[in-house]
Amino acid sequence: MHDPGPAGAGAQRLRFLLTVDDPGGLIRDLAAWHRVQQFLAAEEVPATFFVVPRGDEGAWRLDRDPEWLAAVRDAEARGHDCQLHGLDHQGPEFGPFVRCIYALGGPSYEAQMEADARQFGHLWRRDAFVAKLQTAVEIFSGAFGRAPLAFRSGALSQCPALYDALADVGIRYTSNLITDPRGWAYIIGQYDNPGDWDPAVPPAPYHLTESVVNLPIISEYAWEITPAKVEKHLALGIEDLSRVYQAGGVFLLVCHVQMVGAEEPYSRQVLHRLLEVARTRYQAQFQTVAGLVADIERGAVPVLDRPADAN
Ligand SMILES: [Zn+2]
Repeated sequence: MHDPGPAGAGAQRLRFLLTVDDPGGLIRDLAAWHRVQQFLAAEEVPATFFVVPRGDEGAWRLDRDPEWLAAVRDAEARGHDCQLHGLDHQGPEFGPFVRCIYALGGPSYEAQMEADARQFGHLWRRDAFVAKLQTAVEIFSGAFGRAPLAFRSGALSQCPALYDALADVGIRYTSNLITDPRGWAYIIGQYDNPGDWDPAVPPAPYHLTESVVNLPIISEYAWEITPAKVEKHLALGIEDLSRVYQAGGVFLLVCHVQMVGAEEPYSRQVLHRLLEVARTRYQAQFQTVAGLVADIERGAVPVLDRPADAN
């Protein structure tokens, strides 16, 4: 196991990655997209967009929509980064959702997990995933002129066969598991007993398999924020910043284009204040997923071994 180094060393800067999900096949609201671009420009923070390559049951494709092609290429020209978010982002397309996503559906979510396994389990196979991923990569490559470096499933649907399939199509990085599921407990108002970090998901890049590295999502702080929620969700983000910094980890958050780009400003308010704390307390070094992958590959960021208690 590589040691990430002493915690809290004076000159240490916190690596901070802001990842934005769902533009493209899932959310084709260009007004929301442009509000996100304006927010990022004002913050002077580069982001990574996890883009859905296909929508409308295959009728829409990123590589065939001139307006969206211009939008995503323009974002990259301004220092942002685009990576791959599923294929259609419909249902559990790459395996069951992670537990805290199911829990959004209410306390009886175990029944939904079982129902999904019965309905879709026969599709959760390596060869079926390879075929889907090849289509997704083909569309992505048509749009950007390069293959994606990293993959995140829609709603974090996943199973071990997905990681074998990702290796088969040459994708070696994923950002698909959550360190702090409390962000999702907060979404359903579970503030009093939200649990804690998942010990199986360390807050730094680690090997999921021999060939595939997870860039863990620390949490989501900016989903459906109302004025009454701002301080609570911000406080969770600030606590996580401190803990990730102390652990010598990488702070990678997920947010969503439909929330950060909403007309109401509350999601942006949470992120604005969190970014300010990251800058002033932790000398945040903002980077994209492509930037982090480059740093990993030149040996500047260690990749931890798979945790012994990973499930
Ligand atoms: Zn998504």
